[in-house]
Amino acid sequence: MSVKNEKCVVDGEFVQPCWVLSEVLEPTQRKGISLVNYSDLTTGKQTRSTVIVKSGKHSKCGIILHNCPFCRENISKHLEPKIHEPE
Ligand SMILES: [Zn+2]
Repeated sequence: MSVKNEKCVVDGEFVQPCWVLSEVLEPTQRKGISLVNYSDLTTGKQTRSTVIVKSGKHSKCGIILHNCPFCRENISKHLEPKIHEPE
């Protein structure tokens, strides 16, 4: 598990941070930048992950990071509403 991503990747519903971002991620979600995993409360299965930043006025709820501050990749693609193609 020591593969260093040069850029962040959105793999399905999960964010795979680039190595710089992974080095600054906080282990707890109390402050700074952290990776948040959401799971289905009934199945306990992880459903998606996002990267949030808690700072200043938003140190309680946090703000979703839409782009990685380091590699600038879009890391919130999976959060946008899915467009349903007409059949
Ligand atoms: Zn990145």
